[in-house]
Amino acid sequence: MAPKSDSDSSLSSLSATPDPSSGTSPDTLAQVTKATVKTQTKTNSKGKKRKAETVTTTTKRTKKAVVEAEEAPNHEEVAETPKKGQKRAVKKAKVTDDVVEETAQVEAEEDYGETKVVVKKTKRKSKAEKEAELAPLEERTVGSKLLVGAHVSIAGGVHNSITNLIHIGANAFAVFLKNQRKWDNPALDPEHATLFIDGCKKHDVEPGICCLPHGSYLVNLAHPAEDRKKQAYDSFLDDLTRSHKLGIKLYNFHPGNSNATTREDGIRLIAENINKAHKDPATGEVIPVLETMASLGNTIGGTFEDLAEIIKLVEDKNRIGVCIDTCHIFAAGYDLRTPEAFAETMKKFDEVIGLKYLKALHINDSKAPFASHRDLHARIGTGYLGLRPFHNLVNDKRLHGLPMVLETPIDVKGEDGKKIEDKGIWAREIKLLERLVGMYVEGDEFKKLEKELFEAGADERERIGGQVERKKAKAAGEKGGKKGGKGKKKAESKDADEDDE
Ligand SMILES: [Zn+2]
Ligand SMILES: [Zn+2]
Repeated sequence: MAPKSDSDSSLSSLSATPDPSSGTSPDTLAQVTKATVKTQTKTNSKGKKRKAETVTTTTKRTKKAVVEAEEAPNHEEVAETPKKGQKRAVKKAKVTDDVVEETAQVEAEEDYGETKVVVKKTKRKSKAEKEAELAPLEERTVGSKLLVGAHVSIAGGVHNSITNLIHIGANAFAVFLKNQRKWDNPALDPEHATLFIDGCKKHDVEPGICCLPHGSYLVNLAHPAEDRKKQAYDSFLDDLTRSHKLGIKLYNFHPGNSNATTREDGIRLIAENINKAHKDPATGEVIPVLETMASLGNTIGGTFEDLAEIIKLVEDKNRIGVCIDTCHIFAAGYDLRTPEAFAETMKKFDEVIGLKYLKALHINDSKAPFASHRDLHARIGTGYLGLRPFHNLVNDKRLHGLPMVLETPIDVKGEDGKKIEDKGIWAREIKLLERLVGMYVEGDEFKKLEKELFEAGADERERIGGQVERKKAKAAGEKGGKKGGKGKKKAESKDADEDDE
C-alpha cells in the first residue's frame, strides 16, 4: 500500500489518472477543464516565514476529453518573479483526478524576501500530434493463442483503454475501473461504457476473455471492523458491477491482509464478501480473481495454501479464480527459472489450488532475488527471473488463451532528464513473448536475447540484491540482539521501491 517509488512505478503514473470526465459532464464531447484561483497564506509559529500559494485556473471547453489528463504532467513552464534574495524554485505538478489544473504558485519567504512563481500550463495538442502519438507502435498479432498485453490507462474514460491497447499491439489488457487510491469515485459514465463496448467490437477485442481489471489498493476484504468492512465491500461490489456493465468477465484483486484480525478470520471474511457479491445480480457472471502475493506475514495470498483456503469457502466454485503474478510468486518462493522448477511450481499450484482456477497471469520479471518477499517488478528478462521462465510459460499450452498482462516498468528519462513513459517497451515485450513460442532455447536467437536483456538489468539487480542482503543481515543482527517488539510490524512495512501491482 505504500506509495510507489520513482524507479519502480510501472503503473501508478499512467493509471492514477483515471477518467477525468466521467460523471462530471452530461456530454462526453464537451469536457470542462476546470480552473480555480486560490490563495493561501501560512505563518509559522514565529511569524517570520510566510508561504503564499496562488493557484490559477481557467475554464475551457474542448471537443474531446481524452488527452488532457495525460498531457498535464508534461508541460511545465517556470516563471519567476524577479526579487532580491531568490533562493530556490518551487515546482509542483498538480493533476487532480477529476480535473487538470493550470497552476501558478507563489512561495514567499519573508526572511529572505524570496518570491517564486511556477506556472504549469496544459498545452493542447493538435489533432495530428494526437494521432501520431496513438498510432500503433506494433500491429496486434491476429489469431494469437497467446493473449499478451499490459495494464493500460483509462485517462479520459474507460473506452480509451481500447485505443491504448491497439497502440501497443496487445491482445489482452488490464485497467483500473476507477481511481485505485481513492474511495470516492464518480459513477461509470454510461456513454463511456457504450464507447468501450463499441470499441471492443470495432477492434475485435473480446473483453469477456482478454480483459482483467485490477482492484483498488485501498480495499481489504479481510477487515473485521463493520465500517471498514462495508467500505471495502461497497468498492469491491462497485468494481464487479462496472465489470459486468462493460462485458468483462474476470476481475483481479489483492485478497487482503489480516493486520486487524487473524489469518483464519481474514480468509473467512474474504470468502464471505465474495459469496455476498456473487448473490448480487448487479455482478452478473463476473469472476473475482485472487492475485498471488509476494509477501508473507499478514498479507493473505503469499502462499498457494492461502488462496486454496479462500476458494474452499466460496460457495459458487464456478465464479472464483486465481491470477499468477510471476514476480510475486517468485519473490514468495515459487521458482520458475528452469523447466523443471517451472513444472514443479505448476504441479504445486495444481495440487494445492487446482489448475482449473487459474484464470489469468501477470507477467513480470523481478528486481528482487528468489524468495526475498519483495514486490519489485522488472522488465522481462532483466530481473532475477531472466528470460528462460517466460519461455517456459508461453510454451505451456495450458496457459494459452488466458490473459497475460505485463505490469513491467516503462518509465525512462526523457531528453530533458524528466521521467516519461515509453509504451514502446510494452509493445516490444508483447512481441518478444509471442516470439518465444516455439523458439529453440539452445539456438543463437534465444541465447542472444537472453544475454542482452540480462545485461540490461545488471545494475538494478545489483542495487536491489544489495538492499535485500543488507536487510537480511540487519534482521539477523536484530534477532541476535533484542527479540520481539517491532519485529512483526517491520516485516510488514514496505520499502520505497516496492510495487503495488
Ligand atoms: Zn496486483
Ligand atoms: Zn500483479
